[in-house]
Amino acid sequence: MSLARSRTRMRLRCAFPAVALVAALVGLTACGSGSPAPRPTAPVVDGQLAQQLKGAVGDAGALVHLQELQKIADRNGGNRASPSPGYLASADYVSGVLRAAGFDVATPDYTLSRRRGGSGGSEGGEGPTTLPNVVTQTRTGDPAHVVVIGAHLDSVKQGPGIVDDGSGVATLLEIATRLGASPAVRNMVRFGFWGSEESGAQGSTGYVTGLSDADRDAIMLYLNVDMVGSPNGGYFVQGGTGDDTSAAGPPGSGTVGDVLADQLGSTGVTPQRITFVGDDETPFVAANIPSAGAENGDRKKKTAEQAQTAGGQAGEVFDPCYHQACDTIQNVNPVVLDHYLHALAGTLAHFATTTDTLP
Ligand SMILES: [Zn+2]
Repeated sequence: MSLARSRTRMRLRCAFPAVALVAALVGLTACGSGSPAPRPTAPVVDGQLAQQLKGAVGDAGALVHLQELQKIADRNGGNRASPSPGYLASADYVSGVLRAAGFDVATPDYTLSRRRGGSGGSEGGEGPTTLPNVVTQTRTGDPAHVVVIGAHLDSVKQGPGIVDDGSGVATLLEIATRLGASPAVRNMVRFGFWGSEESGAQGSTGYVTGLSDADRDAIMLYLNVDMVGSPNGGYFVQGGTGDDTSAAGPPGSGTVGDVLADQLGSTGVTPQRITFVGDDETPFVAANIPSAGAENGDRKKKTAEQAQTAGGQAGEVFDPCYHQACDTIQNVNPVVLDHYLHALAGTLAHFATTTDTLP
């Protein structure tokens, strides 16, 4: 990949004030500091963005990112766990792809919990105490109405985490790069890549709790993407109408889940509604932000009924490599990934262009 090259280019562009000035004059964002004012967008034509974005995304583009994440794990002891060099390399990769696509990228730190002793390390010793999340957003759209979509960027220590949650990361990258940094939207779109999900959603929690009240209030909804390419994947939508009311999500979550379920349905599969299970949506739900999640199942077995509505093998687990060393590029089911990509692109486009507000 040309990651190193694109980062160098970015640095050079920032290094020359004249170039930065020209960039500012022509309406590009000059490097680094200060939040650019939202700039005028092309008029929003209802339905157009969804159609365009769904037409543009595909599993082939996402697979390129998954191959790169696999290489990163291969170079870093077989995993991308946070904290570890594989995690930081994943954060660099994501930042590079987004910058090359014209986005400004922020890497706000979160504080790592020191509480968990983990795997035999002496407590309080080595390793970083903070790690970066990776966050970017469109320059267009109302910053008082922000649609946030997120995936976790870390793996477990046991493996490279290409489905869990490389599939979510690759989905976000494919959608972001096809959407571009200045699409015709009414609401701003933000992409979040969270660290340390596998040790208690620490990255997403640090992000949400670190926001000002005003910034939290500006978040219209949160869409979580965690495992969307398993070999025997189902098509689950978390939140909203889950059968456990305590896990149904704040008001508005049902609407978010409905749109995602409709979008999955429009790709030709039958989605199933389930409750939240404590992924990165947790801090958003706790902050009363309407939320839904896309998730294809992990260690449970697919029932005959689920196989009938979602395809795949009844009596087999959704993901035989869940949290194992075999969660490699070989573990990815591009068909499942493609359904979710289109459904999430449609869902994101819907909420990015809607005039409706959620409770
Ligand atoms: Zn996960």
